[in-house]
Amino acid sequence: MGTLTLDGLVKRYGPSTAVERVDLEVRQGELVSLLGPSGCGKTTTLRMVAGFIEPTAGRILIGGRDVTRAPAYARDTGMVFQSYALFPHMSVAENVGFGLEMRKVGRAERESRVMEALRLVRLDHLAARLPRELSGGQQQRVALARALVVNPAVFLLDEPLSNLDAKLRAEVRLEIRQLQQRLGLTTLFVTHDQDEALAMSDRLVVLAAGKVQQVGSAEDLYERPANAFVAGFVGRCNVLAGALEGPGRFRLEAGAVLPCGPDETGVPSHAARLVALRPERIAIAAGERGEGLPARITAVTYLGAETEYHADLGGTTLLVIRPTPPHGDPLRRLAVEDRVTLQWDPAAARLIAGE
Ligand code: ATP
Repeated sequence: MGTLTLDGLVKRYGPSTAVERVDLEVRQGELVSLLGPSGCGKTTTLRMVAGFIEPTAGRILIGGRDVTRAPAYARDTGMVFQSYALFPHMSVAENVGFGLEMRKVGRAERESRVMEALRLVRLDHLAARLPRELSGGQQQRVALARALVVNPAVFLLDEPLSNLDAKLRAEVRLEIRQLQQRLGLTTLFVTHDQDEALAMSDRLVVLAAGKVQQVGSAEDLYERPANAFVAGFVGRCNVLAGALEGPGRFRLEAGAVLPCGPDETGVPSHAARLVALRPERIAIAAGERGEGLPARITAVTYLGAETEYHADLGGTTLLVIRPTPPHGDPLRRLAVEDRVTLQWDPAAARLIAGE
């Protein structure tokens, strides 16, 4: 069965550390994403699991078996690359069957497994084509079929959607997720695209500079970010510096006092803190009212279903995102320099430990 365990995995290149002590357990049938900016160590981690890069320290277990020093072909993994990496002179069926041929699977069984894998990605009707006779999305599905056909214990996906245009990406990501769930594939998925990671994963691992910042479900990361990096990287967020003035009162460096949630940071009360406040949790009303914080609009951006506002609180700008108000609503006419009132549930302004 396919569980994947990373135990204190480290990769150093000379004095620099690409991956620093990553611990992770991917359960049978679970899809876990490695998410982070360029250079954070996602690909290095995945390639260590695949057996293409040797770890400096730590262990990799697949189904409880230590494969840290096993060669790539003996690891029971199937990998899909960003570049598809199809053999250009082989047909779709030959590409998909290649791994089975290497494993000395007989011709009859090979043919039936290839067709079954192609049916899973809905390409059985194109088995005789060459890769160059397929669209990008179809080529990527051939690459998926090629990884699936060997029934790997662990499925490894390295930015498999990044060469596809936006619409196709959304389609293929849904297809991959449905297939992964239907077949119960234990999957490690690398992406730098937070929407993709949030949409596809059971759990996510946010990495920065080779270190795990937080592991959790999409909701955990979005609603309860562990630090400013996660708050800023997963979704859009107002991250504001200041200090606690009393329970539920957070004074910004620029002066304004914001209502905030309880202090769960566990750091001493005099230490620096940040507030993380999601832009869609802020309500906006035209004019200055008694309740809430007065602000001045500095930008309005109409985006169709939503409208974004920048609101100045006296030296600090907050991003506010609201469903676009209907015609006739006074908010629909909101313009730069207008005075507004902002309000939110204090619990939505989460305190996190400052740097
Ligand atoms: P990207 O999204 O750009 O692919 P990534 O998160 O996958 O980024 P990695 O490719 O894992 O990042 O690289 C992690 C770090 O290790 C980077 O700082 C990179 O420069 C460094 N690195 C990777 N390979 C080597 C190498 N062979 N020699 C030296 N440093 C390397």
